[in-house]
Amino acid sequence: MQAALYAGAHRLQLIEKPVRKIEKDEVLLKVSACGVCGTDLKILNGKLHAKLPVILGHEFGGIVVECGQYVRTLMPGNFVAVDPNIVCGYCRFCRRGKVNLCENLQALGVDIDGGFAEYCLAPAQQCYRLPDDFPSLQAALLEPISCGLYGIRLANIQPGNSIVIIGGGMIGIIMIQLAKLFGASLIIVTEVDEHRQEWAKQFGADLVINPQKPDAEKVIFTATEGGGDVVIECAGSPQTFQQAIRLAANGGTVVVFGVSANDQTISVAPYEIYRKNLDIKGSFLNPFTFQDAVQLMISKKLRFDGLDIGYFSLQEIEKAFENQRQKKNLKTVILPHE
Ligand SMILES: [Zn+2]
Ligand SMILES: [Zn+2]
Repeated sequence: MQAALYAGAHRLQLIEKPVRKIEKDEVLLKVSACGVCGTDLKILNGKLHAKLPVILGHEFGGIVVECGQYVRTLMPGNFVAVDPNIVCGYCRFCRRGKVNLCENLQALGVDIDGGFAEYCLAPAQQCYRLPDDFPSLQAALLEPISCGLYGIRLANIQPGNSIVIIGGGMIGIIMIQLAKLFGASLIIVTEVDEHRQEWAKQFGADLVINPQKPDAEKVIFTATEGGGDVVIECAGSPQTFQQAIRLAANGGTVVVFGVSANDQTISVAPYEIYRKNLDIKGSFLNPFTFQDAVQLMISKKLRFDGLDIGYFSLQEIEKAFENQRQKKNLKTVILPHE
């Protein structure tokens, strides 16, 4: 099969490789669609860790073509989405139910071969069955949606709350829709890119602001009457984290969702956190949210029809990464069999 192998910083190679033998608890998937994520770009730049060498791609769905001997819940022909985050179940964090903090966590597409390939082996336990008519491009959205859902749960939005979402990319769009479901009365998105500003409006933001405008923060303070009850940082930079703290109302919650490079730091005034009585939460991965993400999509409570997705073949993987880097579309997806 063809696959995109990550072989070290800035080295992504299209290779031919045999499919390894299936384990008893695994399914072999014919990958339908696999999203290119900001995390993939950071891995390729050497800014985030991945095992070497590995086939990247952690946001994917596919058709089951073979089942290991012990697999009882799936059959060839089933369409599934994959939760890439595999936890051990026996470390101290797993045993406390904090599975995203698993000490032995292994992720498909980061530590184990993932979805930028024609075929992928995944433990059956990681697979979530989708209706046969589920749009295959949208199967690639379930992992980011499940992560967004965890972030939204941490945000603890109460009906009537005002929400500020920093960053109007794919995650921002997911957060807009989730915040609405949780009863937000006002959703403000800050975004520099003009196209993305339009998309944010189209997907339900009440107010979209270019944060580079000198009065941007003033406008947000006026609209929210003193800051957002919840600020969700989805841009992943030190500056936007600082901004999130500024934009939060007294007693507000700041969710750190965006992934910054692991060597970036900021300066904050502890007094501000103290005086504003802020609740600052990191949102890492998607513990116990994948099933609900699937349900929200199947029931169409979340809708991504008409979403601006750029799709590429596996052969075009470098072009696809470039597309994601330049933010040409809201989301970039690889279709390995096109
Ligand atoms: Zn991702
Ligand atoms: Zn564990």
